[in-house]
Amino acid sequence: MNSRFPFHGGKAMRTDREGMQSNRRVFLAGGAAALAASCAPTMRATGPAPSPPPPPQAPRREPFRADREHLMKVTVCTRPFRPAGPRLEIERFGEKTVVHNYGHGGSGWSLSWGCAAQAAALARSQGHSEFAVLGAGVIGLTTALRLLESGARVTIYAEDFPAETRSARATGVWSPSSRIGLASEVPPGFAQRWEEWTRYSHARHLQMVGLDDAPIEYQTQYYLRGGVMERTPASRDFLELGRGLRNLNPPWTDTDPERDPFPGKARRKGQSMIFNVTGYFDRLARQFERRGGRMVRRAFAERSEALALPEPVILNCMGYGAKSLWGDETLVPVRGQINWLVPQPRARYGFFYDGVSAISRRDGVIIQYTGPNDDFGYANASESVDAAETDRALATVRRAYE
Ligand SMILES: Cc1cc2nc3c(=O)[nH]c(=O)nc-3n(C[C@H](O)[C@H](O)[C@H](O)COP(=O)(O)OP(=O)(O)OC[C@H]3O[C@@H](n4cnc5c(N)ncnc54)[C@H](O)[C@@H]3O)c2cc1C
Repeated sequence: MNSRFPFHGGKAMRTDREGMQSNRRVFLAGGAAALAASCAPTMRATGPAPSPPPPPQAPRREPFRADREHLMKVTVCTRPFRPAGPRLEIERFGEKTVVHNYGHGGSGWSLSWGCAAQAAALARSQGHSEFAVLGAGVIGLTTALRLLESGARVTIYAEDFPAETRSARATGVWSPSSRIGLASEVPPGFAQRWEEWTRYSHARHLQMVGLDDAPIEYQTQYYLRGGVMERTPASRDFLELGRGLRNLNPPWTDTDPERDPFPGKARRKGQSMIFNVTGYFDRLARQFERRGGRMVRRAFAERSEALALPEPVILNCMGYGAKSLWGDETLVPVRGQINWLVPQPRARYGFFYDGVSAISRRDGVIIQYTGPNDDFGYANASESVDAAETDRALATVRRAYE
């Protein structure tokens, strides 16, 4: 007998395994016998001491296949970060009006509809009904759609079409305040504007939850404790917004330790909104086409080329491309690398563990090493793949199940 188990009533307590086997035998003996046993407490008093009930079975999650054999692709992109927050305003160039809508950092997918609505309203306030949108990322496409919804005629001009843009390489989670600005650099009233964008966007996204092709859905996410990486404070004062908006999504709760699907690790869990980026983007592009929008492939080397377009009002949705074309030296690239595992429909959940996030989207399981804080990737415009970062991220995911 294993000496770790204390004696109880003159008998050694049984291990969980023994207890479970005993329970299983009672179950197999048949319902009638089990019922008779439960109705005869006096008989049991003379028999062996009852074993403690087995602990509830923790529902293990199907592990992600996180190895190179299941690695579909690795992509890198840069977040268009502006310390002062997204630029959303009118600028005039002679006869032309330009409405800027760029610089959404790590929040472009989340804030897209709110910013699109405001940009479209600014553009429509000029009294025209024909518009050029520069850029076919998520910001350009939603801005163009919002204009079409208002009855305008719209042409998108872009070097890259939706599936080719940096937007197509995003993680795909609801993250409206991720690297959205620096507290010391945003103008007064920014938090209020951000809240308006956020609320409007969220409402638009909710309209797409439950559609057959699942462009947007809710998924259980876990926050796991432990690991080896120390999280440290960032050196910059990245804005943290949204504490008052927690009621937009269902609240997170502590996990029940006895039902922890990652034994000893899961601390919090909740429902998160995720974007199935490939399908969602495709849906937006098809909607744009169906509603009469035109998309023209065109790369602009000079600002004058853009200003020579026939449309009187131009919406600048060029993301990081706005830096050179519109001379915005405040734009900072923030690098991010995504590791795409093949889709794993039997494992539909996500987690954050030891600096790595894992999200099971319809178009792949998205694994991302996020570094010790939001400084990670700052001012790094490299779009080449870092193989060591991929190996580290995959190994961390495997460790989450140990
Ligand atoms: C790794 C990573 C993960 C992210 N995860 C999330 C997330 O989970 N949730 C979230 O909300 N956000 C996320 N983001 C942020 C989000 O992806 C961006 O904020 C968003 O993609 C910006 O979209 P955009 O349309 O402004 O830019 P882009 O997608 O870069 O589109 C720019 C468009 O402008 C065109 N263009 C640029 N220059 C020119 C030129 N000179 N001539 C012609 N066309 C030009 C391009 O061809 C393209 O069509 C993430 C970003 C990264 C990098």
